[in-house]
Amino acid sequence: MRPLKHLFGIADLDREQIEYLVNLGHSFIDINRRSLKKAPTLRGKTIINLFFENSTRTRTSFELAGKRLSGDVINISASTSATTKGESLLDTAQTLAAMQPHVLVIRHSLAGTCELLADYLPHTALVNAGDGAHEHPTQILTDLLTLKQAWGSPEGKVITIVGDIAHSRVARSHLLAAKKLGYTMRVVAPKTLLPSKIERYGCEVYNDFDAALPGSDAVYLLRIQTERLTDSCAFPSIREYHEAYGLNAKRLRAAGPDCIVMHPGPMNRGVEIATEVADSAKSHILSQVEHGVAVRMAVLTTLCGGTGEEA
Ligand code: ASP
Repeated sequence: MRPLKHLFGIADLDREQIEYLVNLGHSFIDINRRSLKKAPTLRGKTIINLFFENSTRTRTSFELAGKRLSGDVINISASTSATTKGESLLDTAQTLAAMQPHVLVIRHSLAGTCELLADYLPHTALVNAGDGAHEHPTQILTDLLTLKQAWGSPEGKVITIVGDIAHSRVARSHLLAAKKLGYTMRVVAPKTLLPSKIERYGCEVYNDFDAALPGSDAVYLLRIQTERLTDSCAFPSIREYHEAYGLNAKRLRAAGPDCIVMHPGPMNRGVEIATEVADSAKSHILSQVEHGVAVRMAVLTTLCGGTGEEA
C-alpha cells in the first residue's frame, strides 16, 4: 500500500488505502466492546486534537481512539487556545508541533487547513477532522465501515444523500469515495442547497425526494449547515423543508424493505429526519458512532507507523 503520511481528504486516498483503513478499523471494533478497552498500539505516541469548530462525535472518538490504544491525548478547543489572544492558526500549530506530538488532528472552518499547515510542520502527521465545507475523511471511513458491516461491500449500491449538499463536507467526501469504490450517489436537495456543477462528481441529481427513493439501498440525511448558510432564503420554512426533504416512515417504505438509514450527526429531529425513522430498526446512526472510534483507531495507528498487530 502507498504509505500514508497525513490524512487530508478522500481525494488523496486510493481505493487500496481506503479499504486498508476500513478493514483495520473493522479489526478494532472488538477492543471497544470488551470490558477492558485497552491495547498497547500507541504507547509512547502523543496525539493533539485541535478543534476550532464544535464537535461531539469526532472529537470524543479521536480522544477515545487514542486513549484506548494507550496513546497520550491532549484536547484543545478554540475557546481555550491562544487564538483568542490573537495568535494566528499557523503560530498555534507550529507551537504545538514544537512539543513533538506524533499526530495533530485539526478541525477548522477553513477549507484546506491541513494542506496549508503541512509545509510548516514537516515532522507531524496531520489529520483533517473536518475543514469547512471541504472534506471530512474520517466520517466517510466510518460510514464505509458501517456499510461493510451491513452489506459486505458498497460496490454497486445506491446511496441517496439528502439535504444541504452545498455546504456539507460529508457529502463532498462521499461523492469522491463513491467514484473510487464503485457505488452510486443520488443527491437530493432544493436547488438553493445544491452546489453548481455537482454533476461533475458523476452523481445522479434530484430536486424531488420522492422520485429518488425507489431503488435506494441507503438514505443518508444531512443537517442544514446553518453555520455556513449565508442565504437566509435557501428554503421557505423548517416545516416546508421537513415536508419536502424530511425522511418519515412513509418515505422510507417507498425506498423498499431493505433500505437503511444513515446520518453523520448531529441530527435535527423534525427537520431532516422524523423521530419514528431515527429510532427505527432501519437506523444505523448509532452504529456509525460506534464505528467512528474504531476507524479513528485505524487512522492513528497507521499514521504512527503501526499495523494493528500490536493490539
Ligand atoms: N458532523 C458532521 C460534520 O462535522 C456533519 C454535521 O455537522 O452536520 O461535518
